[in-house]
Amino acid sequence: MLPTWLDLECTILRLKENAYYTISFGTVKPYMKLFDMSIRSPINQESIDQMISEGWRAVISDEMFAKYGVCRFDHKEIRLRPELGGYRRDETLFHEIIHAFYGKETADTKISGLPYWQENGKIVEWMSRKLRANPVLLKHVITAFKLKPQIYDKISYMVFSDVSNTQTVLPFISEDIMMD
Ligand SMILES: [Zn+2]
Repeated sequence: MLPTWLDLECTILRLKENAYYTISFGTVKPYMKLFDMSIRSPINQESIDQMISEGWRAVISDEMFAKYGVCRFDHKEIRLRPELGGYRRDETLFHEIIHAFYGKETADTKISGLPYWQENGKIVEWMSRKLRANPVLLKHVITAFKLKPQIYDKISYMVFSDVSNTQTVLPFISEDIMMD
């Protein structure tokens, strides 16, 4: 079960508070690197173009153990499960882009062995929702990774209403709607 926006916002606030509290005692929480990296090298249109030129691609595939998607560093592949649609597909794509762009230190699975994998999971999820809510970036990412545009909320409608005028079904209706 994915956390709600409110859960995520509260967790991120707590992580930051906790981190600043520990900084004042001379130690830095390792998961804070992810916030630092996102400030120093933000994910924007140029970073997406850079990833594409380095050979990264998005593949629809169910050959994985992950529930939604997976980032294969060895193949420069972002794998998305075929049953993902609408919001869930796009949000998963951004989630995996963050892993791909910032590297293995962002790992959020227990098997990674990172002591802060759970904090990473919350931060990556929070960042992916923020990034997906940027209409310019959403359009750029879907186009760059050659995925079919899908309309499921106001943001995706804003950028894809012209190219996806054949879509008559709103796929998010059966899901819990998360507003960005
Ligand atoms: Zn992840």
